[in-house]
Amino acid sequence: LVQIRGATKAFGPLAVFQDVDLDVRQSEVVVLIGPSGAGKSTLLRCVNGLERLDAGTIDISGERLSYQPGPLNRIRRNVGMVFQNFNLFPHMTVLGNVMCAPVKVAGGQRDKVREEAHQLLDKVGLSDKCDAFPSSLSGGQRQRVAIARALAMRPQLMLFDEPTSALDPELVGEVLEVMRTLAAEGMTMLVVTHEMQFARKVADRVVLVADGGIIEQGRPQAVLDEPATPRARAFLRAVL
Ligand code: ATP
Ligand code: MG
Repeated sequence: LVQIRGATKAFGPLAVFQDVDLDVRQSEVVVLIGPSGAGKSTLLRCVNGLERLDAGTIDISGERLSYQPGPLNRIRRNVGMVFQNFNLFPHMTVLGNVMCAPVKVAGGQRDKVREEAHQLLDKVGLSDKCDAFPSSLSGGQRQRVAIARALAMRPQLMLFDEPTSALDPELVGEVLEVMRTLAAEGMTMLVVTHEMQFARKVADRVVLVADGGIIEQGRPQAVLDEPATPRARAFLRAVL
């Protein structure tokens, strides 16, 4: 579904990553791990066109990511993203947040979009919060709204950038549970997380990013328990 080839990105003199190849297959859950500053967020942002590669290509469902407004908007509709800090619209209700893009961007019919929004909020366990404003919700609830909002565009691919790292520990589980359900339903997901239990249980593949590239990748057990390289062993010793 996603094919990244020769991806290279720098911010001025700062080289972030060079010549990265990465594939994500349909219904696959790929977890990216790696030290702070390794470029995990930057890579995700390149996949939905929020950042631009300096070199290399990204294909999503066979369409080459280009930076022309038309194709770029098509890709963005097709790729949902959930951030660490929720990024909900504070002046809109929960239902309004979920309905916004399908109505305004995709031109959906209000009644139909509303019905789907209710279904999605039900799915993330928030059907009783439709009329609440984000400020009245817990972090875990906000993040579940953010997931419902991304799903409302019926994306083929979901990107998650440390979706639980801003949450109090007791709220992490409810968000991971929603993500686990999505994965089980066959959603294709590319997830940056420090939640190693999630990586272990849900990921089809774990990819370790460091020093400007992919150091190691494979089944979670292989990468997390039997890393092949000294670099991977050093990183995992620090986080596990
Ligand atoms: P973390 O685990 O801390 O979230 P990360 O792996 O997500 O780290 P990135 O946020 O992708 O790392 O950042 C990679 C490098 O690029 C860092 O050194 C960061 O300071 C730098 N960087 C990121 N965004 C920009 C930007 N817009 N302008 C300049 N430098 C940036
Ligand atoms: Mg990051």
